[in-house]
Amino acid sequence: MQWFDYAAPASLAEAVSILAGHPDARLLAGGTDLLVQLRSRRKQTSLVVDAKRIPELSELTYDPAKGLTLGASVACYRIYNDAAVRAA
Ligand SMILES: Cc1cc2nc3c(=O)[nH]c(=O)nc-3n(C[C@H](O)[C@H](O)[C@H](O)COP(=O)(O)OP(=O)(O)OC[C@H]3O[C@@H](n4cnc5c(N)ncnc54)[C@H](O)[C@@H]3O)c2cc1C
Repeated sequence: MQWFDYAAPASLAEAVSILAGHPDARLLAGGTDLLVQLRSRRKQTSLVVDAKRIPELSELTYDPAKGLTLGASVACYRIYNDAAVRAA
């Protein structure tokens, strides 16, 4: 696999700033697509930006009036195990 740098921003603002400075950066969630594609060289990047530590992308809430809110980095296991989601 090609070498790449790794960044794990702790806020959306930091992530946006990093992405703005690296046009070829790739976001990483679980990595099951991205790492396979980098390994096979179907995608290339010099920087992988991990989205899992960004609180704004990790929101999982359910409100009967407002509905379900899922951040872009919420893992499936959290959805399956969420008591409010299961009850609804
Ligand atoms: C062995 C194997 C088995 C699989 N089995 C299944 C299966 O049974 N069912 C199924 O549905 N899928 C399956 N998949 C496909 C894969 O799990 C899905 O495509 C899944 O959606 C990838 O999620 P991820 O979080 O790992 O994404 P990643 O690989 O981290 O990212 C996927 C793409 O989205 C981009 N991205 C990541 N986060 C963000 C973000 N916050 N904003 C914008 N872009 C972002 C990445 O840069 C990348 O291009 C399988 C894959 C593999 C390798």
